[in-house]
Amino acid sequence: DQARASLQKVGVFDPAAYGDPARNLSLMGEMRRALEDGDIHLVHQPKYNYRTGRIDSAESLVRWRHPSRGMIPPDLFVPMAEETGHVRALTDWVLQRAVEDQQRLSAAGFKLTLAINISARLLSDTDFAQSAIQRVRQAPHTICFEITETAVIDNPKVALENIELFAANGIRVAIDDYGSGLSSLAYLKQLPAHELKIDKMFVQNITTSQRDALLVRSTIDLAHGLGMDVTAEGVETPAAFALLATMRCNLAQGYLVSRPAPLDELMTLLADEKRLRFYQQTAASSAH
Ligand code: C2E
Ligand code: MG
Ligand code: MG
Ligand code: MG
Repeated sequence: DQARASLQKVGVFDPAAYGDPARNLSLMGEMRRALEDGDIHLVHQPKYNYRTGRIDSAESLVRWRHPSRGMIPPDLFVPMAEETGHVRALTDWVLQRAVEDQQRLSAAGFKLTLAINISARLLSDTDFAQSAIQRVRQAPHTICFEITETAVIDNPKVALENIELFAANGIRVAIDDYGSGLSSLAYLKQLPAHELKIDKMFVQNITTSQRDALLVRSTIDLAHGLGMDVTAEGVETPAAFALLATMRCNLAQGYLVSRPAPLDELMTLLADEKRLRFYQQTAASSAH
C-alpha cells in the first residue's frame, strides 16, 4: 500500500481505478482531445541488427500521460479503445506520427524503419487498410506493421487479404509476440511476413532454462527456413544478447539495447552510435 501511495504520487496509474466501465468509457471520450493536445505521444524502442552491428529499425509505442490520472499504459487503454470503437482514430494518429518521425530521422541522416502495432480488430477493416497504404505511400518500405495473432480477428479471410495487400504495397510485416498466444503452424504457413518477433516470455529465460533456449533456437531456425528475419523481444542481459547471436538471431530488442525513448533521445543515441563508429573506423584505418 505504501508502494502504491508513492507510485500515485509520481503519477503512475492505479489499476484499481480502471475496473469501472463507465469511467473507462469517459476515459475514451477524452482520447480525441488527448491526441490533439499532445497528452498522447510516441516513444521509439530501437532494434539492434546483429548483421550490420547497427540500429536500423525501431518500434513506435504509444504513451498516454493523463493530466489527472497519470501514465496510462497501452496494455490498458489500447484494449479499451478496441472495445469502444476508438482504435481506428488512435491507429491513424500513431501511423501519421510514425511517418512524420521517420521523415525527421531521415532528414537528420538516420535511415530507420519504424514499426507500429496494428490491432487485430483493425485488420478486417478494408477501409483502414486502404487508408494506411495511402498514408505510407511515399516510403512504404520504411514502415513495418506488427501484427499479433489473437482470437479477436473479426474476419480472418479479409484480414489475410489485407495483410497480403500491405506486403504487396511494400510495407514490412512482422508477427508480434510469437509463441505467447495460440501460435499455430497454419498461421506461419499463411502469413506473408518478413519478420517474426519471439515473445519476451521465452527470451527472458534463455540463459537459465534449457527448454526456453531450445524453443527459441528452433523457432529461429524455423523462421529462417521460411525466409523470415527473427527479432528477440525482451533482451535484458548481455548473456542473453550473446546467446542469441550464437543462435543466428537477426535483431535484438529490449532494455539492454535501449528503453523506448522520445524521438529526440533516440536521435541522441543514434548520433552517439554514429560518432563511435566514426572513431573506430578512423582508428582502424590509421592503426600502426
Ligand atoms: P508489444 O508490441 O509486444 O511491445 C513490446 C512491449 O515490451 C512494450 O511495452 C515495451 O516497452 C516492452 N519491452 C521492451 N523491451 C523490454 C524488456 O527488455 N523487458 C520488458 N520487461 N519489457 C520490454 P509497452 O510499450 O507497454 O506496450 C505494451 C503493448 O501495448 C505492446 O506490446 C502492444 O501490443 C501494445 N501497444 C503499444 N503501442 C501500441 C499502439 O500504438 N497500437 C496498438 N494497437 N497497440 C500498442
Ligand atoms: Mg509490437
Ligand atoms: Mg511484442
Ligand atoms: Mg506484447
